[in-house]
Amino acid sequence: MGILKLGAHMSIAGGVSYALDRAASVKSNAVQVFTKNNRQWQGPPISQDDVDRWHVQMPLHQIGDAVSHASYLINLASPQEPLWKKSIAAHQDEIERAHAYAIPHVVLHPGAHTGSGTEAGIARIAAALNQIHAATPQCSDTITLLELMAGQGTCLGGSIGELRRIIEQVDNPARVGICMDTCHAFAAGYDLRTLDGYTAMLEELDRELGLPALKCWHLNDSKGKLGSHLDRHTHIGEGEIGVEGFRFVLNDPRWDGIPMLLETPKEDDLKEDLMNLQRLCALVEDAERIPQGLCAAAIEEMSEEMSKEMTKVTHEEMTP
Ligand SMILES: [Zn+2]
Ligand SMILES: [Zn+2]
Repeated sequence: MGILKLGAHMSIAGGVSYALDRAASVKSNAVQVFTKNNRQWQGPPISQDDVDRWHVQMPLHQIGDAVSHASYLINLASPQEPLWKKSIAAHQDEIERAHAYAIPHVVLHPGAHTGSGTEAGIARIAAALNQIHAATPQCSDTITLLELMAGQGTCLGGSIGELRRIIEQVDNPARVGICMDTCHAFAAGYDLRTLDGYTAMLEELDRELGLPALKCWHLNDSKGKLGSHLDRHTHIGEGEIGVEGFRFVLNDPRWDGIPMLLETPKEDDLKEDLMNLQRLCALVEDAERIPQGLCAAAIEEMSEEMSKEMTKVTHEEMTP
């Protein structure tokens, strides 16, 4: 097994490429970003300067993997024509932005049917993705990852089976995969606390979609109880999942090479990210797989350094 690909969602204040500097400041080797303000429909034009800077900073900071997260406004399941059309345009823009930065994976919340029903919502999402794929043949290497959701309200994708039902209606399934969020999975009813529960979830994934469909993990503990359908992220080991569930994921050879990213609460100095990364690393059985900067000695040295360092981060876009 290779070195783990560990990181966190980072702010893009100053430009998308500045997320890489933040990722490097906590010694991570993977990152998740928004490629524009996630609470606005329209972003500024893609900045070629920032794209160029991104391509310099990636190898400089030895960050091997980046994932983008699409705007929370997008609802490809909407039964309302104007919102659906707007969502299609917005997700197409997300894919084009990610493609410009050579980011291969765009995580998307599948959408909410808001009353039209599960079948109708699923058909709507697949139809939207089909339109987007047809309109962006030049971005065929940029894949949408449907995120497993907590199953709150009319949100779709609250089970692996539901994700499969969306994907089986997509004309080009090579352009979709899934992102497994531990908090959402637990809140949806997958009991990651026990080996039996973890194994059962993966058997379901294997049966429904095949394990290679999973391209990204979001590692978050859950404030909500098992099956609560509550989407509330918390620090590793401080929620209802506890550390054992993360131990199963981190040491499972089937996820070799798959980025694992935190979306846990934090302040501007990113100390909580460092704490959570450290907690994850403490669960890794083979020390050789811990990213170099995240081994215990390096962490101690870094905390000193970090207290001096200015890490300018704005958090208005960080609510999970
Ligand atoms: Zn998400
Ligand atoms: Zn997530």
